[in-house]
Order: sequence, then C-alpha cells, then structure tokens
Amino acid sequence: MIKITIAIDGYSSTGKSTIAKQLAKALEYIYVDTGAMYRAVTLFAMRKGFVGGLEEDITSLCDDLSKIELRFKYNEALGFSEMYLNNENVEKAIRTLEVSKNVSRVAELQKVREMLVQIQQEMGKSKGIVMDGRDIGTVVFPDAELKVFMTASADKRAYRRYKELLDKGEKVSYEEVLKNVESRDYIDSHREHSPLRKAEGAIEFDNSDMGLEEQFERMYNFALRIIDKNKKDAN
Ligand code: C5P
Repeated sequence: MIKITIAIDGYSSTGKSTIAKQLAKALEYIYVDTGAMYRAVTLFAMRKGFVGGLEEDITSLCDDLSKIELRFKYNEALGFSEMYLNNENVEKAIRTLEVSKNVSRVAELQKVREMLVQIQQEMGKSKGIVMDGRDIGTVVFPDAELKVFMTASADKRAYRRYKELLDKGEKVSYEEVLKNVESRDYIDSHREHSPLRKAEGAIEFDNSDMGLEEQFERMYNFALRIIDKNKKDAN
C-alpha cells in the first residue's frame, strides 16, 4: 500500500488541526499536532518559572530539556491522541491563553526545535502521517508529497479561537485573543530558526470564506491524486 506524508503549515488558528484530523481519519493515517509538543514544553517551562513569571530565564530551559518526556496517547472515546508531559495528561492545560502567550518565545529556542524536530521525523519515518505546525514542509519533512500552507484573515482566525476558548470556559476577551494571534504570527514568521514560511511546492489555502466540507473535499482530492500517481509510478 502506497502511503504519503502530508505536511500542513500556516498561521495560528487557521484550522490546520481540524483539516489534518479529517484527512488522517479518511486516509487511516497517523495525525500529529506539533503545536501540542511546543505547548507542552512551554507548560513545563512555565511551571519551572523559566517563562511567564517575574524573573524569567528562558535560556535555562535548554539545560532542563532532558527532563522532558513527551508522548501522544490515543484516546479511543475522543477519537484523537492526547498530549502527555512526563506521564501527565496535559491536553487541557496546554490549550489555555496563558500557554499561548508564552509558546512562541519558547519555540524560538534552537535547542527546543532540534529536540522536537528529531522526535517528529522519527514519528513520520514510515510515512502514512499528517503533521501540522509551522515548519513541517520546510524543515521536518521537506520531501513530503503533499504540502499545504493555510492562511485566513487575522480577525476571522481570532474569532474562531475566541469562540473555542469561551466554549472551554476560559474568560477571555476577543481583543486579547486577536492580540495573541497577531503577536504569535509575528514571532513565528520573524524568528531566526525555522521561521514560518510557505514551503517550496506547497499549495496555498485561504479558508477565510470556505466551509469545512469544501476545504476537506479539496484537500482529500489532492491527496488521492498524489497517492494514485505514486501507485502508477511504482508499477
Ligand atoms: O499550532 P499551535 O497554534 O498550537 O502552535 C503553538 C505555537 O507553537 C505556535 O504559535 C508556534 O510558536 C509554535 N510552533 C512552532 N513550530 C511548529 C508548531 C508550533 O514553532 N511546528
């Protein structure tokens, strides 16, 4: 059976994980949310006081990276994998606005990136994977058969994230969420190591005015066409 690698990158809250999950389910592939990994490292750093506190010392996090063990465990009832940090289920804790406020600065650290990219490449070495993030098509899997770059207007993205946080019971304002989305986009695309860029050969997807179904249909068809072509080439 021919399996491919699907790399989905893009700005914050463009719905990357929604489409990635749908594709993985339809193709029976593994789905990996790399943002969850950066968020889990950030939660560790916040708890240790390396970020988010009054006496920040973000670079000291690099000396403690060996104390971090990350694992995805599939939750049958939910139908997706949850993030575990040192054997603790942190799926809920990593999705707060507090973590969102610190994550992009943690993700700037080269040592953090090196550690996570290595784990991600290992997870995808047998293909049959849909991975989303900011550097998947450029750094993690530059040879991915299908690369997608997602965009949408900042206000639409902030509104989606705002609603998500409200639904989870967080007390946040729309302005605060918009500010966070814009500031993460800025840091993510201007950082020194692996900045967010459209990868060579990536298909650009602006879903500001596109429904979930249409978006899925289009991407699924792209994937099927590539799988089909690879099958023919293999014969
Ligand atoms: O995807 P999500 O919004 O959860 O990602 C949180 C943050 O993690 C991003 O804003 C970015 O700073 C960082 N990230 C990254 N590289 C990835 C995935 C996420 O730098 N591959």
